[in-house]
Amino acid sequence: MTELSPRIDSLPKAELHLHLEGSIQPATACILMARQGVQATEQEVRRRYTFGNFQEFLEAFKWITSLLRDPQDYALVATDLAEHLLTQNVVYAEVTLSVGVMLLRKQRPEVNFEALLRATEPFERRGLRLRWVFDAVRQFGAEAAMAVVEAARSCGSNTVVAFGIGGDELQVPTAEFRGVYDRVREAIELLRVERIGHGIAAIQDPSLMDLLAERKIPLELCPQSNLRTGALARQLARHPVQIEDHPLPVFFRHEIPVVLSTDDPALFDTNLRSEYAHAAHMGLQESELEQTCAMGFHYAFQPSSQTGTP
Ligand SMILES: [Zn+2]
Repeated sequence: MTELSPRIDSLPKAELHLHLEGSIQPATACILMARQGVQATEQEVRRRYTFGNFQEFLEAFKWITSLLRDPQDYALVATDLAEHLLTQNVVYAEVTLSVGVMLLRKQRPEVNFEALLRATEPFERRGLRLRWVFDAVRQFGAEAAMAVVEAARSCGSNTVVAFGIGGDELQVPTAEFRGVYDRVREAIELLRVERIGHGIAAIQDPSLMDLLAERKIPLELCPQSNLRTGALARQLARHPVQIEDHPLPVFFRHEIPVVLSTDDPALFDTNLRSEYAHAAHMGLQESELEQTCAMGFHYAFQPSSQTGTP
């Protein structure tokens, strides 16, 4: 693997596609399990974090969310994530919360969110700004998604910067969610920003690539995630694939904005430093890596005056 130059390594970075639940390190998972009276080793958790395809990944993700039961559990994992981000020179992050899962488990999102905000506030003084994306689960349907929008409203915090829908795209057609998106469109238009999570399928459609480049719509690229979930192999219709087969350099040189992220760093056994090393390994030059760092700030949902842009 290509070494990352100390200069790129030391640049302040932003991470824009990152799930709180997918960032729970095995050691922290053990603590959460112990809180519920279950003794487990990190190695056992790591075994849970192995999967052969997207469906198995969703199972692993579901399992880890089942460990989050109380507001203090959310406070613990958010604190751990904040510490981890600082070790990666991340000064700004937009973190996705599976609020849809909280509602499914009959938890009160406002209470969890309050605990998590209180736990992470001290990190602002250490130079880390955290913003939050409330995520609905696609398979739960449009009504459940609407409840997530309502939860975002009742939290009433200006640190909630976006709304997302994750999960299995093949199960529920997008049209069913139109009402939900209409409710949030006003906010999107107000902020005049939009990003696409992953979007590596664009590699198969040259006219879509042109459109993304022309409109400057960024792709949130998470190479290790694409490799581990099998998405990369599926898109390239080839097996096995390696990290250097990722289309990131093609998108970059097609002038499509890219923001480099880790998605679920604990589940995919990655971190932002590794993802930049991956990008270097794919052939991105020093100046291109530098531009990639800058795009992380530029395409944040928060106005640049508040991202701590270097
Ligand atoms: Zn994701």
